[in-house]
Amino acid sequence: MPEVKEITDYLKNRTKEDVELIKKAFDFAKKIHGNQKRYSDEPYFNHVFETAKNLAQIGMGSVTISAGLLHDILEDGEVAPEELEKKFGKEILFLVEGVTKLGKIRYRGAKRHNESLRKLFVAMSKDIRVLIIKLSDRLHNMKTLKYVPTHKQERIATETLEIYAPIAYRLGIRKVNRELEDLAFPFVYPEEHRKVYEIMKEKDKENIKHLEKFHKSLKKSLANEGMVNIKTDYRIKGMYSLYKKLLRKKWDIEKIYDISALRIIVPTINDCYKVLGIVHGSWRPLPGRIKDYIAFEKPNGYRSIHTTIFTGDGTIVEVQIKTPDMHNAAEYGIASHISYKENKKNDDYLSWIKYLIPFKKTYYENGNEKSEKNLDLTEVPNWIKDLVEYQKNVKEKDEDFINNLKKDFFEHRIFVFTPKGDVIDLPIESVPIDFAYAVHSDVGNHISGVKINGKFVSLDTKLNNGDIVEIQTKKTSKPTSKWLEFVKTATAKKNIKSFILNNK
Ligand code: MN
Repeated sequence: MPEVKEITDYLKNRTKEDVELIKKAFDFAKKIHGNQKRYSDEPYFNHVFETAKNLAQIGMGSVTISAGLLHDILEDGEVAPEELEKKFGKEILFLVEGVTKLGKIRYRGAKRHNESLRKLFVAMSKDIRVLIIKLSDRLHNMKTLKYVPTHKQERIATETLEIYAPIAYRLGIRKVNRELEDLAFPFVYPEEHRKVYEIMKEKDKENIKHLEKFHKSLKKSLANEGMVNIKTDYRIKGMYSLYKKLLRKKWDIEKIYDISALRIIVPTINDCYKVLGIVHGSWRPLPGRIKDYIAFEKPNGYRSIHTTIFTGDGTIVEVQIKTPDMHNAAEYGIASHISYKENKKNDDYLSWIKYLIPFKKTYYENGNEKSEKNLDLTEVPNWIKDLVEYQKNVKEKDEDFINNLKKDFFEHRIFVFTPKGDVIDLPIESVPIDFAYAVHSDVGNHISGVKINGKFVSLDTKLNNGDIVEIQTKKTSKPTSKWLEFVKTATAKKNIKSFILNNK
């Protein structure tokens, strides 16, 4: 039986009010979900409990944790929003409603629209906490995916890999990112997963043995120098992350040096350098692998000292040295900042933006690395660039910051769908012609009619969020200069002008 203590034990600096709120949400959710069961045949309540527990683990505050316990309560209409608000207040109602709404978006598998879909997620979850609850919800759903009917598994796992895991990564919540990827991997790429598994199995046995031995002598060396107030652990690289690296290294496992890493967590920055000295004093470092991300932090804010050393028995190990703060920021990213805000009330709202990490330039299809042709993903997506640019121009501690941000970057965009469910994002007041050119210039150049949500409308009809737009084309149809009066996007304008110029 789940107990509320398993959650509240994670709360740092908890107050009586925090514990009472969580207890109240715990009891209410338990009562409402009653005898409902999951596919796994366990009580439905276990799902919301695990969701909330993960939120507590990554350091969220009592409000978010309570919303996590209540996140599925509006779903089946057994509780009215008014009742939830009366019991738990506006803030929790807002979070739960946000999570419920996000649950309605479905991934339909066109890779080129993933960026729009991710953006839609962010726009819809006006409060970043909604997104974090949703990630936590998905994490538990992935842990129990094997009980879900087979025909649903692949869609859910693909959606996890394409949408949820990258969002977690981008928010800097590495712990959740890794777990989501590794849980989804075998369902999406079963063959590749098996291959990586086989390679790992071989490596693992020797690795763990060497690692444990090294771990022991390292602790001894540190203790000899009087360093006892330290935490060490080792982490094995995630399977999916290893898979991606194997693809880059042509499946040569010997070229991957960070399969396993030893983490050393010490109280202060001074201690970090002291530990580095001790490590290098006892083991020979691999040239070119010493990275001081404390003196020079990574663009995404990551801080730590990395070095790779020869253990002396023929293996090499990566050692990462950091303080608890650096460790929390690296594992929980935005979550470690939000929770701080929730608990202390007066943290500034700006800090989370640096945790939005751009995507890498490659994607993978059927196990093969492919470069993106149409979209240049080496470019930081524009909306992130805008965010960062905006951040620079805003006065620190500007209380309206988040509000302005939403206005500028999300409220001025709309998200519409193709009949197949692909997402296209456009500036507000766009018309079907903008949509057509966003799909393809040929579609724009031969548009003959348009249906919005199943009804024929004129070409200058303004599109609304969530519209399903169906473009009809004819070979004989072509753009006219009149269109320039009502199109919104630069792409449409450019294409119309050049068509008219070339067809005079
Ligand atoms: Mn749920």
